[in-house]
Amino acid sequence: MSKIEKEISIVIPLYNEEGNVSILYNSLIIVLEKITSNFEIIFIDDGSTDESFNHITSISKNDNRVLGISLSRNFGHQIAITAGIEHACGDIVITMDADMQHPPETINLLYLKSKEGYDIVNTKREDTADAGIFKKTTSTLFYKLINRLADIHIEPASADFRLMNRKSVNAFLELKEKDRFTRGLISWMGFRQTTINYSASERFSGKSKYSITKMFRFATDGITSFSAKPLRISFFSGIIVSLIGLLYAIYAIIEYFKGNTIAGWTSLMVTVLIIGGIQLISIGIIGEYLARVFNESKNRPLYFVKEYTSKEPKI
Ligand code: UDP
Ligand code: MG
Repeated sequence: MSKIEKEISIVIPLYNEEGNVSILYNSLIIVLEKITSNFEIIFIDDGSTDESFNHITSISKNDNRVLGISLSRNFGHQIAITAGIEHACGDIVITMDADMQHPPETINLLYLKSKEGYDIVNTKREDTADAGIFKKTTSTLFYKLINRLADIHIEPASADFRLMNRKSVNAFLELKEKDRFTRGLISWMGFRQTTINYSASERFSGKSKYSITKMFRFATDGITSFSAKPLRISFFSGIIVSLIGLLYAIYAIIEYFKGNTIAGWTSLMVTVLIIGGIQLISIGIIGEYLARVFNESKNRPLYFVKEYTSKEPKI
């Protein structure tokens, strides 16, 4: 397959979504056939341990517009998206989740927006029927934090449901970093971008693959990839704590000459714990950045493909 053979490529990363593959495929076909006959659907199986890839294989046997790519293990949503985009040969590439939370009908709106001349059409969810209060609050907090710390702006509640034209896809593929926070990279890239709203439905089958630890990882990736401010903050908190310590020392000396000694244990413990805490947090922050440098310097491939449903495409 050479690049730009299709008008539209749909890229769907998935991890253990056996209950969603068929319904998603059927709904996509209805929507896409109304737009063009020249499309492809790429499912990237991110190391599923259920029957997802078997479902994809049987769909692609009956429909050669469907390509299944099975990664050698679970590399994570963001890398799976990149793998799909690398394999896409459409003039327009649309990424979406496999769980029906990104309504296939919205593809029409994305397509119309791109015809208005936008290079990238992002989406923002209006209401996640599925998301509990915890997910909503953490998500709002995360976007507040990243927009305050980082030099890029990311629309709150934005999703990896997005249309990109060939020009922006080629630019995206030039970004080779290993810790990939797609939303941030897209914002950083520039080009003519717009955002449309969609209303997220409930997950059709299965449960969310983003555990609290994965969400935390995702959030630190986002912040550390786009901002060095946490390093500066830990530096300044060091200065502030040292100043407070200095003032306290002056106060203690004055009291000593006045003949008073300050009661020791409590203040000592509080000080030791606060300073110890700040030191550990600062080391942790440095560690996060160092881990990223380490990751980049190894320069390993982002992922390996285990299997394709059809003949191996040239990318
Ligand atoms: N996903 C993936 N690899 C992972 C985790 C998730 O490819 O390691 C896929 C998942 O199958 C889905 C999309 O990424 O298609 C979004 O995940 P999910 O719906 O679990 O996230 P949520 O909507 O709850 O934020
Ligand atoms: Mg989901």
